[in-house]
Amino acid sequence: MTAKWKVAILAGIAVLCSIGTYVALTWGDGDESRALFEEAGVGLANGSAESLPDEIAYSDFLRLLDQNAVAGLVLKEDRLAIRTHAGGYTSTLLPEGFAPEVAARAGAAGVELAFLPPEDGRFMDLMISLVPALILLGPILYLVGGGFGRGGLLGIGRSPAQLIDPKRNGFSFADVAGVEDAKEELGEVIAFLKDPTRFQSLGGRMPKGLLLLGPPGTGKTLLARAVAGEAKVPFFSISGSEFVEMFVGLGARRVRSLFRAARKQAPCIIFIDEIDAVGRRRNGGGGGGHDEHDQTLNQLLVEIDGFDPSEGVVLIGATNRPDVLDPALLRPGRFDRQVNVGNPDLKGRIEILSVHMRKLKLDEKVQPIDIARGTPGFSGADLANLVNEAALIAARRGADAVDMAAFEAAKDKVLMGAERRSLTMSDEERRLTAYHEAGHALVALNEPDSDPLHKATIMPRGRSLGMVVRLPERDRVSATRAKLEADLAVAMGGRVAEELIFGAARVTTGAAADIEMATHIARNMVCKWGMSDRLGLVAYAEENAPSTGYDKAAMTDSTAALINGEVRAIVDRAHARARTVLTEQAPALDALAQALLDRETLDAEEIWTIVASAGGGDAASRPSSLHS
Ligand code: ADP
Ligand code: MG
Ligand code: ZN
Repeated sequence: MTAKWKVAILAGIAVLCSIGTYVALTWGDGDESRALFEEAGVGLANGSAESLPDEIAYSDFLRLLDQNAVAGLVLKEDRLAIRTHAGGYTSTLLPEGFAPEVAARAGAAGVELAFLPPEDGRFMDLMISLVPALILLGPILYLVGGGFGRGGLLGIGRSPAQLIDPKRNGFSFADVAGVEDAKEELGEVIAFLKDPTRFQSLGGRMPKGLLLLGPPGTGKTLLARAVAGEAKVPFFSISGSEFVEMFVGLGARRVRSLFRAARKQAPCIIFIDEIDAVGRRRNGGGGGGHDEHDQTLNQLLVEIDGFDPSEGVVLIGATNRPDVLDPALLRPGRFDRQVNVGNPDLKGRIEILSVHMRKLKLDEKVQPIDIARGTPGFSGADLANLVNEAALIAARRGADAVDMAAFEAAKDKVLMGAERRSLTMSDEERRLTAYHEAGHALVALNEPDSDPLHKATIMPRGRSLGMVVRLPERDRVSATRAKLEADLAVAMGGRVAEELIFGAARVTTGAAADIEMATHIARNMVCKWGMSDRLGLVAYAEENAPSTGYDKAAMTDSTAALINGEVRAIVDRAHARARTVLTEQAPALDALAQALLDRETLDAEEIWTIVASAGGGDAASRPSSLHS
């Protein structure tokens, strides 16, 4: 036997092993849903079977449930297998996070629901089944000289993108709440997709690539799908990580086949979720030429450049890590439109809760606004989760409506699950934050030299519990001493309010950033800008800044002490100034803090109205743009 024959036989055995293992590990054809019931060992139907499609839409499942047609359910990961009373089997793919809702509905309808533990997924099955092949086939193919680049190997070069038909999309803008700005921006994309030719003839600027930016769980994926639903066009969806494969060249091939498939279905949307996985900055040949990632991203750029918007294909990407993206992706003609999707404010949370509560039977005392008030910092996904949990809890208790107690219990559960305890505040913390921010704001209203107030909020964001935003009226290249001193007083306003209302023993670490900023300004006033009468117009070495060229070691101890004393004096003066204002205008401070507790975010106009009616504020610091 020649070496070539041995190779061929070994390769043949390897392929057969793989196919066998794969088939054994995955479902048989057609009867996938029935197999799930067998696996769960529950209520198999015998006799004649109703013939149902392999898969139905989630909404169709709900309809079956409403018609009392469902006899049993088995849930495995996101696959819900359904057995009907008529003996038919089908299944539906659950939208992310819907398992609790299904459990609640099944409970309410008296349908048995079995859970199967998740497996490592079909991809793992494929990988396991590939083991024999990789061991035998891998080296052989390389030896024979073909490499992996030939394509079509076991069919995995095909695009794994999910295609959602417009008839089965099931999502519209009505399902996404609290993101009005984003919806408005996307409205144009919808108009375009509905009728590309007309849109063009009307002279609209055709969209090509649009990037949704925002923290996790804010509804980016949902929005993209809703755009397809609104425009009634096919939706090709793939996650960036699915491009990243172990075989060199496979990612690039997937990109190519995705675009090829999409162009045939135009008008349509290509959605690349978590685009940072494929779009992260290229190495630029640092590692000796192209690696797999660079190649995939290059191919993506080529494809984006290669299609014309008039073909009717719109590319939407989503990410919560825009900072790692390769700048090439953001150039004109690529993802040149960016839409921010942020965590919802109070109003947004009310709307999102209302969207998800539509599906439930609620106790009449349940008001979205009360729940929204108690959930600052929750994302849309957290809120959806909260509503589902509340339904589950109520169902478990056998209640016939979801009441406030269920929502309270659900909130604790969601908080624990999400480990976001730090994000929601206790009532005491909320009150303290409200006074802190009101303190900043009220001092700012009494300092004509400081930047005008833009808004104040006690909505947590990142690591801060609240903030007061001031907008400079113009770009500044230099600042006056008067402005710096005003800024210092404003910075002190937060802590001073805490002291006045809660006492010196109850002040918190919340003022750390304010103190740091104030110290920095004061130190520069003394050491750099010659704004201390006692130290005069001399530049002194700045602490922690060896690069200034002034040798710190050469500074005498007495000079250093003098500097520290001056910095301290400047900050103390600012503190006293803030204290005077807030003591004199205590009613305005109370009114403002209370308004923040009620409304969470206030704009400049609202702040002025509240403060003025409580007799506070200095009219001289009121921007002319605001009406009285
Ligand atoms: P992202 O892609 O931004 O991480 P998703 O779109 O995956 O967020 O959101 C997950 C789920 O959370 C959604 O399916 C939906 O149920 C809920 N959700 C998130 N944001 C919103 C929103 N703005 N309005 C309604 N539901 C939302
Ligand atoms: Mg997402
Ligand atoms: Zn502060």
